[in-house]
Amino acid sequence: MKQDTLVVHEVYASIQGESTFAGLPCTFVRLTGCNLRCAWCDTPQAFYSGRRRARSDVLAEALGMATPLVELTGGEPLLQPGALPLLSELCDAGRTVLLETSGERDIAAVDPRVHRIVDLKAPGSGECSRNRWDNVGLLTPRDEIKIVLASESDYHWARDVIVRHALADRVAAVLLSTAFDTVPPRDVVAWMLRDRVPARFQIQLHKYVWAPDTRGV
Ligand code: SF4
Repeated sequence: MKQDTLVVHEVYASIQGESTFAGLPCTFVRLTGCNLRCAWCDTPQAFYSGRRRARSDVLAEALGMATPLVELTGGEPLLQPGALPLLSELCDAGRTVLLETSGERDIAAVDPRVHRIVDLKAPGSGECSRNRWDNVGLLTPRDEIKIVLASESDYHWARDVIVRHALADRVAAVLLSTAFDTVPPRDVVAWMLRDRVPARFQIQLHKYVWAPDTRGV
């Protein structure tokens, strides 16, 4: 069955770096493949390479890392039918489970015990038209929204979306960050203070920890 296997780029332990769980030891299961091509994507290595493995084998390796927190990421994990049962099995094993998803896939079938970290793609990503807005109505206070900014106009877009959809009332956190080498973080923080945006600014903590090695961390 298709659900019994997954194409996996890597399984590894690191520090969670991009959510309200940032700073906690975390096991990452990075699946191969993505149907988007964000201009600033920092994991293009996950587009193609990887190996098809039994889901039971992936589960055992992730649990063997022995971190209370496990994150399924990519690429885009929800492209693979085996992702949904793997998420549930990780929850069954008592782990706190995070899912990083692009926001293009339907999140309705994800186990409700999972904390879904859902991207909204700003125009500077080049993939804004792929946002699945129906997902917004499915979000709960367990979930988080992440918006990566590459310009001031991306910030204006994010600010308007946050207000229009009352995002701060729906989720645990609305997370704003900047794509590397684009808009200065200090500018975004100043705009947030000026506009009183109900969001949380974040940096990619794991990249500071492991710099200059920024791949697969
Ligand atoms: S959705 Fe994620 S993995 Fe896919 S291109 Fe965008 S940033 Fe990269």
